[in-house]
Amino acid sequence: MRRKRIVFLCLILYLVTGFFWCNPGIIKEISGNSVSGETPEILADESGDIWNGHYALVRLEDVNPASEISSLEDCIELLKSKNIPFSIALIPIYRNPEKNVTIYLHEKPELVRLIKDSGATIVLHGCTHQYDGETAVDFEFWDETTNAPLEINNTEYAIAKIELALEELKKCGLSAEIWETPHYTSNYEVAAVVSRYFSKIYEGYAGKLTVNEFGQIVVPTNLDYVKGEHPVQSVFEILAKAENISSSDDEDIVASFFYHPFLGTDYLRMLIGGLKKQGYQFVGPEECIRVKAYL
Ligand SMILES: [Zn+2]
Repeated sequence: MRRKRIVFLCLILYLVTGFFWCNPGIIKEISGNSVSGETPEILADESGDIWNGHYALVRLEDVNPASEISSLEDCIELLKSKNIPFSIALIPIYRNPEKNVTIYLHEKPELVRLIKDSGATIVLHGCTHQYDGETAVDFEFWDETTNAPLEINNTEYAIAKIELALEELKKCGLSAEIWETPHYTSNYEVAAVVSRYFSKIYEGYAGKLTVNEFGQIVVPTNLDYVKGEHPVQSVFEILAKAENISSSDDEDIVASFFYHPFLGTDYLRMLIGGLKKQGYQFVGPEECIRVKAYL
């Protein structure tokens, strides 16, 4: 009789241990999240994936007046259909000096409408995202040929560029409270000017939200982006990095990437699906700042 009871107890212990071994998320759910004080009620999204405690962010990159509308529209539709908050890095003026082309955002009402209706957080991504080359390819606040700051009055130049960009946004009935430096590259003078206009920036590769020397909150893009030359490899690299973050106990580490809509929706769909499977919960940058900027 006694032996039977011991065997029975061992069997129960085996089953309970086995259950938790196969469902490690459950332990976290039971013990961890409710103490941290961060949205403990959200443990699973509608698909049933258990939240890994980390936030994911996605930004549609380099959207400008010359952008192809259909691919942007497809990406926006995909994100909206999955209820994923996102941001758009917007360049309000397109320039290509070689072809003598300048296009202002207000000249593209269909694009303006699409951006407005998307519900995305607008991130101002420079004014023209170029100095003497083509928009989105060139640097705006850096000389890549000498790998040094532009040899001009950078303070005056940055003020003029930001003022022009804000004026163009206003013409379109848009506004932006977050800044992203083109190619994440400028110098101290430019960064100081940016800090006069924006208290939040969205750039760099830190794992967590930080505050920089100008007192600005910095939302990172630590997972980088899908590279057009080898997109599938990029997707796997991003998901591998995210998997590492997912298993980290430090829930302040986010999984943040940006995506060029001209690549179509396939890789974006793979990333979103993969990150959701890993248990990420998507938030927009403003929401992420609200919850995580206790810094
Ligand atoms: Zn860019």
